[in-house]
Amino acid sequence: MKNTKHRYPHNADLRKLIRFSAEDGTIWLAEHRMLLLHAAALGGLRKELLNSVGHEQARRILTRMGYVSGTRDAELAKKIRGHQSITDAFFVGPQLHMLEGSVCVTPVRLDMDISAGKFFGEFRWENSWEAEAHVKEFGPQSEPVCWMLIGYASGYTSAFVGRFVLFKEVECVACGTSHCTIVGKPVEEWPDADRYTPYYESDSIVSKLLELRTEVDVLRSSLEQQYQVKNLVGDSPAFRRTYNLVAKAASTNVTVLLTGETGVGKERFARALHDLSSRRDGPFVAVNCAALPDDLVESELFGVEKGAFTGAHASRAGKFERADGGTIFLDEIGDMPLPAQAKLLRVLQEGEIERLGDDRTRRVNVRVVAATNADLEAAVKTGRFRSDLYYRLNVYPIAVPPLRERAADIPAMAVAMLERFGTLHGKRFAGITDKAMQALKRFPWPGNVRELENMIERGVILAANEGWVELDHLSPCLESFARLEAGISELGGLEEKRSVDQSRLCDAILASGCSLEKIESMLLDEAVQRAGGNLAGAARLLGLSRPQLSYRLKRNQNSRDHLEA
Ligand SMILES: [Zn+2]
Repeated sequence: MKNTKHRYPHNADLRKLIRFSAEDGTIWLAEHRMLLLHAAALGGLRKELLNSVGHEQARRILTRMGYVSGTRDAELAKKIRGHQSITDAFFVGPQLHMLEGSVCVTPVRLDMDISAGKFFGEFRWENSWEAEAHVKEFGPQSEPVCWMLIGYASGYTSAFVGRFVLFKEVECVACGTSHCTIVGKPVEEWPDADRYTPYYESDSIVSKLLELRTEVDVLRSSLEQQYQVKNLVGDSPAFRRTYNLVAKAASTNVTVLLTGETGVGKERFARALHDLSSRRDGPFVAVNCAALPDDLVESELFGVEKGAFTGAHASRAGKFERADGGTIFLDEIGDMPLPAQAKLLRVLQEGEIERLGDDRTRRVNVRVVAATNADLEAAVKTGRFRSDLYYRLNVYPIAVPPLRERAADIPAMAVAMLERFGTLHGKRFAGITDKAMQALKRFPWPGNVRELENMIERGVILAANEGWVELDHLSPCLESFARLEAGISELGGLEEKRSVDQSRLCDAILASGCSLEKIESMLLDEAVQRAGGNLAGAARLLGLSRPQLSYRLKRNQNSRDHLEA
């Protein structure tokens, strides 16, 4: 299409994406969290930026900021208007830019053939917030200043078309014209592209300085932490408490009992304990006591001598011998059969084991870390667990918190898992959408870290490569949970529909030729009738208090009497 007058499709589909969720202090544009912030505040930030890092860097930062918003909105275009004409789909960008309050956009020319990689766009901008803020602060300009806006146009179009489309502001209201005009085409088609592309690049003195700063921070924190622990992600107070207990135990040989719900990651903490201890170069052997058949527990743990029982054809070392010099992790210790418990107690007391069918004792140097999600004290009372073993194990108990008590860790954990599973499945992602992340943070997680892991892996499998992991990729149960939560703020939509209904209603009323009084009395009578004569009920229907309704009814009755008289 060329040089034709372009008209925007109605923006009801876009308005519907905006939700105000005042109860929990959030605003959403589809799955992305938005902010309604004062233009003056953003203008202030813009000014600070100009004054502190200078014109060029400020321009670059703002351009890139706009670029990011643009690319995010482009993802919506295909989703919302993917089935409509390509022009209507493209107009999601300018229409959202207006809806977001940045600027008024009028298409002048749009010539687009995505499969051929062709794009030419010219738009007219009015009411640019950015030009307004700039002129207010710095007076009239000789160069265009709508940097964030131009970044948006470039970001949106590049993401939409699938190649770098550079927009240039050819006239700007800040320079005294009545409006701004922007022109966009593929970057290769601009002879002076080199002058503009640096504003889109992340590489700069500022970012190098920031990188150096980050490096210093990392060095400092690694000096503080001294150890790097694999697979443990967290910084919440609950996590830190647990981690500190683990770190303290690591410097001793104390037997540790990890308690906590299923799936909280007890084995990870056990491994961290091992990695932080002086035994870190020795073996770490994990045994799940619940997974072993009762008659095999002892031979598995303590080993067996040839001929000890039918089928014992060769001598074999048990897990304890294999863990010599290191750590043994006994998960689900509450499920260990009583005879094995007696032998375990002996290892703990004497540091000695005896293989099955052997009369020789062997010394082993093993730190025992046991774990349970069961109430061992209760098991002691019912005789399923030896009390002497319980006291021996319970010297240094560490409670691993359930995930819901360390919700602050969820974003970092989710991102780490996303990376891990992404590598595993050969995929890369832009990230997890704000909406999905919010649901992750609020979900009660009965299955704890393991459940989070399962959900993220599902998301990795379902989400498109290079795209965003969205709420519906993660789990149907998380999605319905989020919907249930959102139901509380059902009124949060930007209700365009209501105003359409309203104007239809007004049309009908005005066409009826009834007086306002007549309409009021009709409405009151109708409500009283619907409420079966119950005035309190009728008042509720009308959004009035009962006395207010009585007053109005009486007033209308009086005027009716007056007319009839
Ligand atoms: Zn401008």
